[in-house]
Amino acid sequence: MTIYSHSRLSAFEQCKYRYKLKYLDKIPSPVGKSVEAHLGECVHDALEWFYKKVILGEIPELDEVIKKYSLSWQEKETDDMLIVKEIPKQNYFDKGVKFLIDYYFKHKPFDDGTLETEKKIWVNLEENFPHKIIGYVDRLAYNKEKDAYEIHDYKTANTLPEKSKFENDRQLALYSIGIKDKYKDNKPVILIWHYLNYNMKISSTRTEDELQKLKKDTIKLINEIEETKEFATNKSVLCNWCEYKQYCKAWGNSVPLEYQRNIKTGVENPKSSSPTISKYLND
Ligand code: SF4
Repeated sequence: MTIYSHSRLSAFEQCKYRYKLKYLDKIPSPVGKSVEAHLGECVHDALEWFYKKVILGEIPELDEVIKKYSLSWQEKETDDMLIVKEIPKQNYFDKGVKFLIDYYFKHKPFDDGTLETEKKIWVNLEENFPHKIIGYVDRLAYNKEKDAYEIHDYKTANTLPEKSKFENDRQLALYSIGIKDKYKDNKPVILIWHYLNYNMKISSTRTEDELQKLKKDTIKLINEIEETKEFATNKSVLCNWCEYKQYCKAWGNSVPLEYQRNIKTGVENPKSSSPTISKYLND
């Protein structure tokens, strides 16, 4: 059995060679996480901390949220952080502060029925299908008026996708399958994205037929991944944020011999110190 995640599926779709280096050969990343990933991670940390308090009936003040964000920034900052754009690190930090201020005032008094944060979800695509999908919901809420669950996802990206992206988004739709399976109460699930850079909330839903189609498409994709023998490179502008660019054959580079030797002899490569380099890149 292989455990897949939305990021793992997306990595295969974006560049099969990167997928192989990261998920099959488990080559440690030679660079630190990107500053965009760091910003996303710290904003997520602050909101997770905040809503955990809200669930307990306490509403922290805005300056406490900013303090938590600032602490995360300091604790998780690394010297080898990847900064592609020539923008000072401080600007990224300030952006996060602005996201949290805007979010706080927009959502006060935070009475939208939060149930859990960073909720682990297992998605079964089909009975007896050997592979599973795991995911983490940023925030799960229960909307009393609509008698529906809400899956909330925070995005710190600079760009706001087209409307069709939300109608076809795989990640939250897969999570909604996991939520429906878990609660088994036939309540609808609303998918909600918070685009913090735009202080905007976007919602979407899926019909049963759409979810069935998504399951079929995802099974097809996983079967394709399992059967793939040749992992082609896919040179694009995204290579600038790829942790393996300095090991990539498409750029005239190669994977260090010690790692190649480990792969040949079946020895596991050492764990990467920056596994989340691209986790929040598009978030
Ligand atoms: S640098 Fe580009 S082509 Fe090479 S592995 Fe990364 S994404 Fe793929």
